[in-house]
Amino acid sequence: MNTNQSLQQRRMAAIPRGVGQIHQIYAERAENATVWDVEGREYLDFAGGIAVLNTGHLHPKVMAAVQEQLAKLTHTCFHVFGYEPYVALAEKLNQLVPGSFEKKTLLVTTGAEAVENAIKIARAATGRNGVIAFTGAYHGRTQYTLSLTGKVVPYSAGMGLMPGGVLRAQYPNEIHGVSTDEAIASIERIFKNDAAPSDIAAIILEPVQGEGGFNVAPKDFMARLRALCDQHGILLIADEVQTGAGRTGTFFAMEQLGVAADLTTFAKSIAGGFPLAGVAGRADVMDAVAPGGLGGTYAGSPVSCAAALAVIEAFESEKLLDRAKSVGEILTVGLRRIGERHNSLVDVRNLGAMVAVELFEGGDVNKPAAELTGKVVAKAREKGLILLSCGTYYNVLRILVPLTVSDADLERGLAIIGECFDELA
Ligand code: PMP
Repeated sequence: MNTNQSLQQRRMAAIPRGVGQIHQIYAERAENATVWDVEGREYLDFAGGIAVLNTGHLHPKVMAAVQEQLAKLTHTCFHVFGYEPYVALAEKLNQLVPGSFEKKTLLVTTGAEAVENAIKIARAATGRNGVIAFTGAYHGRTQYTLSLTGKVVPYSAGMGLMPGGVLRAQYPNEIHGVSTDEAIASIERIFKNDAAPSDIAAIILEPVQGEGGFNVAPKDFMARLRALCDQHGILLIADEVQTGAGRTGTFFAMEQLGVAADLTTFAKSIAGGFPLAGVAGRADVMDAVAPGGLGGTYAGSPVSCAAALAVIEAFESEKLLDRAKSVGEILTVGLRRIGERHNSLVDVRNLGAMVAVELFEGGDVNKPAAELTGKVVAKAREKGLILLSCGTYYNVLRILVPLTVSDADLERGLAIIGECFDELA
């Protein structure tokens, strides 16, 4: 019989060490917010496959739609034979993506691929090639997205310089001393020191930074960023790969930030566990690339499209956007309650159910508590709760639990987190 240890040994021999591994556990099966490992041990899943399972593991409606699609057609390559699920999903996303303008949607397979394509489209539409990205950003592991990603270790260290033409501005982050004014000034500095605005095709940002620590972009910053883009003819790209598909209480996070992006990338939870991603945005911009310039063999797989249509249907029929808000409320209240006993929990923050707490030693914001964060994640696992960390300083605990989780499981998870802090104090 497989054990976690035997599989770990085989993994070490067969798979390169560069493939990161947070937990040395091997899953056998899962349902909603519960995962069972190969040894039969049960885990409460607060990681949701890193923001992929907003509708939970094996959502019945998603599985039924996938099974129906499996019996009809799994692949033609959309460039060879079209199929309705791709068309229907594009129509749906054109409605759901924020922005009161005509839109079109391209489907691909991964988040990084969506970002790569958004940049290609922005370059084609503007005839410019510079891009501004932010500190603490995460946009993927392909070469161009590594240029955009604002963290060298572990993502690109040892691989040499990534493609050029990316300039880095500061993401607003009050707790780490970057105000909205300073963040805007950092873009003005780029225009003065590094590149003329007329050479910048796009500014790309995550409305809530994911890997960077669940930092929410302030509304006044977004308004000024939009104005800067409009002033200089620069396209604004919202990378909603992690924030999208209902995680934040609206289907896309930008709905809450007061402005619309020209292009929006999405992936992860959009297809409830099946690989699907894409770019949606202004129709004229999306049409800038000539026929043949966009797509891919598996891009917009019919199985994934069927899953995504069922995910959107589940959001509507099960009122999951409201649930995202209540999950966010329960978790932030619970974490703040733990924070009353432990001063290391300095900043509990959220947009809907994208919930995090940033930890500092003794509550001192100059001392990010990376070690404690790692210990809490490890102890929680021992107690049957799967957590994730994130943040530039590795000191943020983040929660991406399925929105379909029960209140009882949310409270159980919070109780485990509380016990971890009590035992580690
Ligand atoms: N953009 C954001 C905001 C992400 O969070 C991620 C994945 N964590 C990506 C892009 C890359 O997505 P993928 O891993 O599917 O390539």
